[in-house]
Amino acid sequence: MRYTENAFDLAELELRARQDKAEEEHQRRLMEISEKAPEIYRMYSESIRLNYALLGNIGKGRSGADISKKIAEIKDKNITLRRTMHEMLKACGYPEDYLQMHYQCEVCRDSGYHDGVRCECMKKLLKKYTTEEINSHCSIELHDFADFRPEYYSDIPVNGEIPREKMLSIYENCKNYALHFEADTSSMIFYGKTGLGKTFLSSCIAKELIDQGWNVVYGSLLKLMRQVEDERFNRTTGDTMSIMLESDLLILDDLGSEFQTQFTDSVLYELINERINERRPIIISTNLSIKELNKKYNDRIVSRITGCFRPSFFVGNDVRLVKLRNGIK
Ligand SMILES: [Zn+2]
Repeated sequence: MRYTENAFDLAELELRARQDKAEEEHQRRLMEISEKAPEIYRMYSESIRLNYALLGNIGKGRSGADISKKIAEIKDKNITLRRTMHEMLKACGYPEDYLQMHYQCEVCRDSGYHDGVRCECMKKLLKKYTTEEINSHCSIELHDFADFRPEYYSDIPVNGEIPREKMLSIYENCKNYALHFEADTSSMIFYGKTGLGKTFLSSCIAKELIDQGWNVVYGSLLKLMRQVEDERFNRTTGDTMSIMLESDLLILDDLGSEFQTQFTDSVLYELINERINERRPIIISTNLSIKELNKKYNDRIVSRITGCFRPSFFVGNDVRLVKLRNGIK
């Protein structure tokens, strides 16, 4: 995956902040022990002094002097000292590693690199910031489930269904989907006319999952396709396609709004097919009916969607018009 330059800058800043925090907390614990248990603090200082002495002797050894006995002596002394220090810490009610540095990632000590290779924690940050950058181009506002207003949907039956009840049930489904999300959760498709809350509920799922720490790419299909196209034909740099393929959840808003070409159809198929094969979920919303979907897209795309996505049919009147009528912004 190709990460953006900005993502590297942000990841490095974040790692530096983590190292500073680890150092600050270490200093705070040292200060606390120096006040509350000065004997333990003296042991700690002595142990640090022994470490320096050890390094000094190793340096002398490199210049040819035989200092192996001296080195063994210092090592033994330090091990015994540390053992006693750990026991005393425990006796005073502290964890035995209380005076050690505590990093968020112990593998790379929050440096982002381990044995000259990029650490997993650094990769995770790069992915997170690259995804955030892609999402920021797609201008979909994120919402909270608490902002859902069932009163915008009518309680008068339409075709044997009460819109408010139906939408409350879809709302509960979406909330459960987000609260119990797993990497191989099923894919969903939201059908329904404009203004029934498809984008709203998708954005609630996106927000909840981002808050939980999942990697979510969301955006209008129109804008995401434009981005992929610009990158494919070198009009701009980036790797939106692989970010979309690899994210934990991909939300494609407004299927059918894209300027449809052979290129966009093949990208759409690649996205859906690869993610379904890899058991990575997608949420698609569309104003098209199943019939219109069949007319507009080729069989490969339609059969993947109708065969592998859980459908929800949104009903009611355009929420934006209801809000306008009631003077709600
Ligand atoms: Zn790491």
